[in-house]
Amino acid sequence: MKLTKAQREILYKKYGGKCAYCGCELPERWLADVIVDPIRNSKWNNELQKWEYVGLYKNSDLESIDNRNPCCKSCDVHKSSKTLEQFRQSLYGLLKLVTEEYGYYKILNRFGMLQETGQKVRFFFETYERKEITKHLNHYYFTVQEEHLYEVYKTIRGIRYLVVCDVPGIPDTEQCNDDLIKYVEREYL
Ligand SMILES: [Zn+2]
Repeated sequence: MKLTKAQREILYKKYGGKCAYCGCELPERWLADVIVDPIRNSKWNNELQKWEYVGLYKNSDLESIDNRNPCCKSCDVHKSSKTLEQFRQSLYGLLKLVTEEYGYYKILNRFGMLQETGQKVRFFFETYERKEITKHLNHYYFTVQEEHLYEVYKTIRGIRYLVVCDVPGIPDTEQCNDDLIKYVEREYL
């Protein structure tokens, strides 16, 4: 799924302009990583003895912007199509490789210049505190997580109807909806 400019804007702000994995500032050419690769929804066809690609259109959740994380090029390359846990394990694997195989590490370690910290792999998004936006529109307040704003916007524009239930505090009135649309268009689109 190719993201629109508006969706990339929303995604950019998902973790405050930082890479979802390592937490670096997103570079100019940041990527929209697919968190759960739809290819993983392939099914083994016993008759044809091959994997059949069934995921993309049957699980529309994987097509949504919620299944994307903004990330830097290096994290994108290392995560590739791995799951989050596979990505985490692969980082421990890299550490093992460097500490056990590399002569450079061994000598630098003996001189106390390069040492293991015992640090567990924690992705930036796992510690990120989500920003909630509270706005006063006419006489109403609404509170919504920033990354959901676009979904709310689409809902109110009548493209999707289900998501609105997840957003407490938005009164279902024409006036408030009009204001919210204007607000999202002004701030995000
Ligand atoms: Zn990164």
